[in-house]
Amino acid sequence: MPMSDDFQQRLTPLLPDICDHFGTPFHIYDEAGIRHTAEQLQSAFSDIDGFQEYFAVKALPNPRILGIMKEMGFGFDCSSITELILAQKMGSDGEAVMFTSNNTSTEEFEAAEATGAILNLDDISLVSKVPRMPELICFRYNPGPRRTGNSIIGNPLESKYGVSHDQIVAAFDQARQRGARRFGLHTMLASNERDHRYMLRTVEMLLDLVTEISAALGIRFEFVNMGGGLGIPYRPEDPPLDLSAMGRAITGLMNGFRTRNGYAPRLYMESGRFMTGPHGVLAVRAINFKDIYRRYVGVDACMTALMRPGIYGAYHHITVPGKEEMDSNVVVDVVGSLCENNDKFAISRPLPPISIGDLLLIHDTGAHGHAMGFNYNGKLRPQELLLNVDGRVERIRRAETAADHFATLDFAPRTLPAASVGKIS
Ligand SMILES: *Cc1c(COP(=O)(O)O)cnc(C)c1O
Repeated sequence: MPMSDDFQQRLTPLLPDICDHFGTPFHIYDEAGIRHTAEQLQSAFSDIDGFQEYFAVKALPNPRILGIMKEMGFGFDCSSITELILAQKMGSDGEAVMFTSNNTSTEEFEAAEATGAILNLDDISLVSKVPRMPELICFRYNPGPRRTGNSIIGNPLESKYGVSHDQIVAAFDQARQRGARRFGLHTMLASNERDHRYMLRTVEMLLDLVTEISAALGIRFEFVNMGGGLGIPYRPEDPPLDLSAMGRAITGLMNGFRTRNGYAPRLYMESGRFMTGPHGVLAVRAINFKDIYRRYVGVDACMTALMRPGIYGAYHHITVPGKEEMDSNVVVDVVGSLCENNDKFAISRPLPPISIGDLLLIHDTGAHGHAMGFNYNGKLRPQELLLNVDGRVERIRRAETAADHFATLDFAPRTLPAASVGKIS
């Protein structure tokens, strides 16, 4: 089930007032739902010592949301300098932050070191490029042909991420030679995976690898990080991930490791989508119809507010508040205004008959929604709102303005003189 019934029931009666007050379009997030999912995650893994979620900041990088995550006891998974700045603004640094970058620059290493974040290295060649090897180091592992990936993240063999199996022992060895004394092992193989058994095999793989590396180098691991990638049902017929079955099974694996080895590493996770995805919707208004070879409903937002349909062909469920009981018997493409033919929120979608001015809710935009937006065609991103637990609706990011868009054209002039190349000095 996309967007929970509970969120829908609380939001629907408020929508006319919210639209009057804030105008459309907007993403609106549900604080109660986010907190509920966070509690469910904590409870599914409550029997594992030192279970820690590092919320993947890129999914919903809004300070108000990050504040909720921090209150729930979560750390932050960052992969850019600006995400590190956000985490620091939230008062999180040191080992409450994990820096999982790839193709990393020296500036990024410097920024991560300055905050004390756990460095998660993406390649063996980076061991010599880390300006100062920290005491605690982690590597991202890519199993290559040992695992099949899933459709969003792709086949590990073709994936740019991580250290290969052949290099992983040497990577830890080299890090140790540069002074690392504490170790973690990370992987991230799946995206939007709703089969908990896939995640289970990932933890199994990590624990087997910990055993292998530990035996080769005589080191212990403080943690394994199973990455994010927990899936949510975008389509009404999709079964949800069985979080409690996943928790029980992974707890069993960790206990088994403890029995065999007399200790167990802590378990880290860096879920993004699962935490916030279902707890957001994009509210848009129908402003145009067009009946040519297909029927089109034009709305007042475009793919700059939600790219997933355009770049992955992803399905986002759409409902029309007030018309839930009507037959969905009109097949339409729901489109934005960008000069790009993949600017479609839905393709050949049966929906109830829509009138100009109707509000449409595009579901499950709470993760990788607003955050993925861009400014092609000079299109501006919409505001973000939060439905608080107490029923208040709060603006947590304003819409972009033309001034924001032109801000980078305001700069000090700078020119390299012509013909300076090849001159004898
Ligand atoms: C994107 C990302 C995540 C979060 O992925 P979800 O699918 O949102 O859970 C976690 N870790 C890393 C390294 C990522 O790149």
